[in-house]
Amino acid sequence: MTEQSTFRKAAFFTLGCKLNFAETSTLARCMEERGIMRAAPGESPDICVVNTCSVTQMADKKARHLVRNLHSRWPKAAIVVTGCYAQLKPEEAAGLPGVDIVLGAAEKGRFAEFLDKWLADRTPLSQAQPTAQLREFAPSCERGDRTRWWLKVQDGCDYFCSYCTIPYARGRSRSPMIADLVEQAGKAAGEGAKEIVLTGVNVGDFGNAHGESFFDLVRALDKVEGIERFRISSIEPNLLEPDLIRWVARESRAFMPHFHLPLQSGSDAVLKMMRRRYDTALFASRVELIRQEIPDAFIGVDVIAGARGETPQEWDKSLRFIESLDVTRLHVFPYSERPGTLALTLPDPVSPADRHSRAARLGQVSERKFAAFLKARRGEERPVLWEGRASRGMMHGLTDNYVRVEAPFRADLINTVERVRIGDPDPTMTDTLTLLEP
Ligand code: SF4
Repeated sequence: MTEQSTFRKAAFFTLGCKLNFAETSTLARCMEERGIMRAAPGESPDICVVNTCSVTQMADKKARHLVRNLHSRWPKAAIVVTGCYAQLKPEEAAGLPGVDIVLGAAEKGRFAEFLDKWLADRTPLSQAQPTAQLREFAPSCERGDRTRWWLKVQDGCDYFCSYCTIPYARGRSRSPMIADLVEQAGKAAGEGAKEIVLTGVNVGDFGNAHGESFFDLVRALDKVEGIERFRISSIEPNLLEPDLIRWVARESRAFMPHFHLPLQSGSDAVLKMMRRRYDTALFASRVELIRQEIPDAFIGVDVIAGARGETPQEWDKSLRFIESLDVTRLHVFPYSERPGTLALTLPDPVSPADRHSRAARLGQVSERKFAAFLKARRGEERPVLWEGRASRGMMHGLTDNYVRVEAPFRADLINTVERVRIGDPDPTMTDTLTLLEP
């Protein structure tokens, strides 16, 4: 028996963004190539891989908490910590109980090499290349947990918004060539992929350094045979070109009527302090154009509640602006102070209690908007990609415009697109689920 064969099962834990989820799948595939398979539910893993986030202080806390929990649950398992927390605080991560390997952002992209080294000698490893030197793009195109695939089209960010640590954890913006991504999407189609989500830190910045554009990319991907659906995970409003919106509405074969835009604040003064690259007028014009071109599109919006500088007057302006937007749903985050960010030098900090009460208020606005969006869908016929079994003998899937629906389970329909009529919200489930009419 080789040393390596003592490691048979691995469990994977992902915190944070969709990009991290895509990368975790790549790490899992790398393990599988070495005969280390995913532990089934209830099985004890020999290795736990924790792909961390560091976008808020809470994210760091969650990473530490998760590692401690894993170690107390499976004290004999080796623990690998990677991702943004490992990049920003490698020593702290290495000091957590049970941790054998710490890999920063560049090292995550060379996971196979580090894993082989560790499997050969079992010497604890902690390596995180300085962020300023992060230049390489580590490709990733993987099946998510269900039928959707995630294609990483970009990494890093050059924007340096005043509250954000991501450029310090993931480095400068970089992306591969369109031809590489078209090839990866074609390969995924060959493996049965029907839907691909384009992920990245700042996807709209794709190709900036090598003379290609995000719009060129989506037009090229739209031609990939076998992929029936593409989604854009999130795009900065200033990078969502009006022509791209019109193209999705009028010409695209496979890009879905689904947009996700980070707004962060509805106050121009706060946006300026955040160093965002748009104002509320630009944001509103993008939303209006989407609505004009695709009235039933899903429009998700990120908002940070209680950022520094959000005085009661600016909060009031922000709330009124957000209420006025014809969007579908908000993703609300209470502001989190991040050491080392410029935001800490800004005036007018908001108390944690006010950050949370503002977040709760925005949560109510979101619920109202989302309920109205779901209600308007009733009776519509829409294409659904069936994903898998839900509870109570049902299967679930997503419409083109991102409404989660369910129907009685049929194995032959999984990973196929079917046109269905939308019914009422299911009162026993969360508001993301809608029952189909029989
Ligand atoms: S655009 Fe701003 S918030 Fe988004 S990753 Fe870049 S620096 Fe962070």
